[in-house]
Amino acid sequence: IFVAPTVDERRRRVLVLLNPKSGSGDAREVFNMHVTPVLNEAEVPYDLYVTKHSNFALEFLSTRCLDAWCCVVAVGGDGLFHEIVNGLLQRQDWAHVLPHLALGIIPCGSGNGLARSIAHCYNEPYFSKPVLGAALTVISGRSSPMDVVRVQLQSRSLYSFLSIGWGLISDVDIESERIRVLGYQRFTVWTLYRLVNLRTYNGRISYLLTDHEVSSTHSATGYAAQRRMQSSRSCNTHIDMLNGPAPIYHSSVEYLPQEFADVISLETSINQSFRSSLADESEFAGLAAASLENRQQNYGPASELPDLSEPLSEEQGWLVEEGEFVMMHAVYQTHLGIDCHFAPKAQLNDGTIYLILIRAGISRPHLLSFLYNMSSGTHLPEAQDDHVKVLPVRAFRLEPYDNHGIITVDGERVEFGPLQAEVLPGIARVMVP
Ligand code: ADP
Ligand code: MG
Repeated sequence: IFVAPTVDERRRRVLVLLNPKSGSGDAREVFNMHVTPVLNEAEVPYDLYVTKHSNFALEFLSTRCLDAWCCVVAVGGDGLFHEIVNGLLQRQDWAHVLPHLALGIIPCGSGNGLARSIAHCYNEPYFSKPVLGAALTVISGRSSPMDVVRVQLQSRSLYSFLSIGWGLISDVDIESERIRVLGYQRFTVWTLYRLVNLRTYNGRISYLLTDHEVSSTHSATGYAAQRRMQSSRSCNTHIDMLNGPAPIYHSSVEYLPQEFADVISLETSINQSFRSSLADESEFAGLAAASLENRQQNYGPASELPDLSEPLSEEQGWLVEEGEFVMMHAVYQTHLGIDCHFAPKAQLNDGTIYLILIRAGISRPHLLSFLYNMSSGTHLPEAQDDHVKVLPVRAFRLEPYDNHGIITVDGERVEFGPLQAEVLPGIARVMVP
């Protein structure tokens, strides 16, 4: 006799995606040795899929029925997690699926910024046994909303959870691949090489400060202009509604079966706010049609920004930094890697992109101390400084004036050219200790 499974029974398994090539190539062994025993002991059933090639996880998450799973765990590095996020946001039913699925990471990559950031945000020790800590996080059954950033490039859009970079740090990340044999030392060696042969880049960076920043540091006119823009766009509100009036930091929700009721109520409220924000179907249809035109991605949250080819208006609150830069790095997690504490004030769910700019003209000792102090998170100036700027923003546009250079998203190289980015506060859920 077939007994239809209850909702609890259907959505109780953990989906594990493992990249056998991540880091030093021992993710499979690490998983068997350190994670399987924890899952078994906690009697958490899981389904393990070993990725067969690059983009395997992206294709899996974007095309499969995911009803059997309550969460997805990446066993690998930030690159694998990036595929999972992008796969989910390419689904037609993304708005329904995303709040249902908690996302976790077991750090086995060479880049483990997210795992390090989550541990940091919860005051969890990381260095002694990061894999065990992450496995315990998976069975904790708790999750927190996390910001995702929508990135629009000229030819396509994608989603990012860690960083967007242009200039020095991206150059080092990508160019040092050629000395990969040196292991982690490659970053230090290439940074010193780049310092000696310092490059600068010309361009313009436009940005919208976060509401908090606008009200605390800027003139009433700029603030009023920004608010006017918000109220004139009916779609804008759904982002705020996700978080409620004040951002919720580190709020945890259980995702495993026993507390399933909580998740259901949360999901419903999120979905309702999406639906109500898209109540004007004709406007939504218009947005969707526009985004179909020259983008690879047809689904996912609609952009609130003007098209990349359109000018940005000062009246709508856009501020501009223009000239010659050593780098721009936009970051939304505390750590870019296990010993790179890049944006100490970042929170998982603060709706903030920390836009860090270094202008040309910075002295070499100053730059060296910036790079050196990144590991402890003491590299950023307290007050604004002539060459280093830290801007908490909710959106920005980068327009390079040169025709070559390196741009990275979550540490991976993307096409060079103009791009714009906007934060989608709390749109994903990550597992937390
Ligand atoms: P790392 O931090 O060491 O770079 P990641 O897990 O982030 O490790 O993976 C790096 C890249 O490997 C990802 O961008 C992903 O697309 C790719 N990848 C995933 N699975 C495979 C596979 N089976 N073979 C080769 N590359 C893969
Ligand atoms: Mg953040």
